Amino acid sequence: MQHFDAIVIGAGAAGLFCAGIAGQRGLSVLVLDHSEKVAEKIRISGGGRANFTNRDLDPHAPHKHFISANPNFCRSALSRYTPADFIGLLQRHDIAFHEKHKGQLFCDRSAEDLIQMLLRECEAGGVQRWQPCGVKAIRVDGDGVYELDTDRGPVRSRSVVVATGGLSIPKIGATDFGYRIAKQFGLRLVEPRPGLVPLTFDGDGWVPYAGLSGLALPVRIETGDKKSRMSFNEDLLFTHRGLSGPAVLQISSYWHDNTPIRLNLAPDADLPAALARAKATSRKLIANELASLVPSRLADAWAQQDTDWQRPVAEASDKALARLAERLSRWEITPTGTEGYKKAEVTLGGVDTRDLSSQTLESKQPGLYFIGEVVDVTGWLGGYNFQWAWASAHACAVALGSQPN
Ligand SMILES: Cc1cc2nc3c(=O)[nH]c(=O)nc-3n(C[C@H](O)[C@H](O)[C@H](O)COP(=O)(O)OP(=O)(O)OC[C@H]3O[C@@H](n4cnc5c(N)ncnc54)[C@H](O)[C@@H]3O)c2cc1C
Repeated sequence: MQHFDAIVIGAGAAGLFCAGIAGQRGLSVLVLDHSEKVAEKIRISGGGRANFTNRDLDPHAPHKHFISANPNFCRSALSRYTPADFIGLLQRHDIAFHEKHKGQLFCDRSAEDLIQMLLRECEAGGVQRWQPCGVKAIRVDGDGVYELDTDRGPVRSRSVVVATGGLSIPKIGATDFGYRIAKQFGLRLVEPRPGLVPLTFDGDGWVPYAGLSGLALPVRIETGDKKSRMSFNEDLLFTHRGLSGPAVLQISSYWHDNTPIRLNLAPDADLPAALARAKATSRKLIANELASLVPSRLADAWAQQDTDWQRPVAEASDKALARLAERLSRWEITPTGTEGYKKAEVTLGGVDTRDLSSQTLESKQPGLYFIGEVVDVTGWLGGYNFQWAWASAHACAVALGSQPN
């Protein structure tokens, strides 16, 4: 039976990065993945260009852009492997990149460059990669040695790293494998749910907005109560089934079932003042006036909702205009659900950080590590999830390299 110093399950972002570093630190490493293709999620990320990190990650409060039952957990790994470290690696591999928006860094050419870089790093560490290769069972003996039954026969190691990601996009290989292994070894889980996901609205309440599909506009979006309020200024996109775009993806990670979201559809305008000015000076219909403040399709759809708004602005009552301003700047609506794991970019929840070391990512079960998205650490949209994958993989690989095997 083959023996390795470390076995990494999952050849995605975190698994490949961890395997490469551990290999280059002198360990014999096997990385295996049940999918035929390597790192499919990197390939489809960031519209094919991979938003691989974010320059705005705050080195003094790196956890600010992450969601977890213990928001401080990710701090140690993120502060020891920073966006600047990953940028340095890309530069050593001559991979060109650019900044798009709010610190988000993307490959100039293709996400494939990133995958090839990770594979070269694995090669430099002499890492063996078995793909496709599933794991049927994991056991640990009395000496703390793990034995894995794989599709290519049994393998043994003192260290097993679970890097199998979350449940998002099952059609490219996402499974609950990591959660099952955690449970098998008595570790706790924070209930997984889809994150960075479009929100859906069923029923008659959505009818007035159904025709707006395809419309995008900048908004301020908010959810939660006084204690838990979260808000973002980002773009909103109307879809056939509801709302999407960066604003909604961001807020979806904070949204809970049966609670409303609130939107300001004209965040840069002083609506009451603009409408009062229009009333004093304009002969146009309210919808036409509104079209100078928000996209005209939205202005038309909005004016349709109240007969008081379907008249020249000069003839509208102050009350009707106040109601219009209020409704546009504080549109409260309760989603009926989300598009689910089929469309979610990430999975919130996962292996409970109370059962993991924030320094090494080793679990309470000695020799068993969890890194990347399988852990209850979820980043904001904008490269934060990959940065967590790199940082947690790095912390784990360093720990593996400093252990006797
Ligand atoms: C459409 C989309 C776009 C995204 N864009 C971005 C972006 O631009 N920036 C960003 O920061 N994040 C982005 N993300 C999120 C990011 O891709 C993930 O957070 C990141 O890939 C997690 O890394 P990971 O290594 O933990 O898991 P993954 O990259 O998902 O890798 C897990 C690996 O484990 C393998 N695996 C699963 N189950 C098993 C099993 N039973 N046996 C063997 N192998 C198994 C899978 O095949 C996979 O290769 C995006 C996600 C999606 C879905």
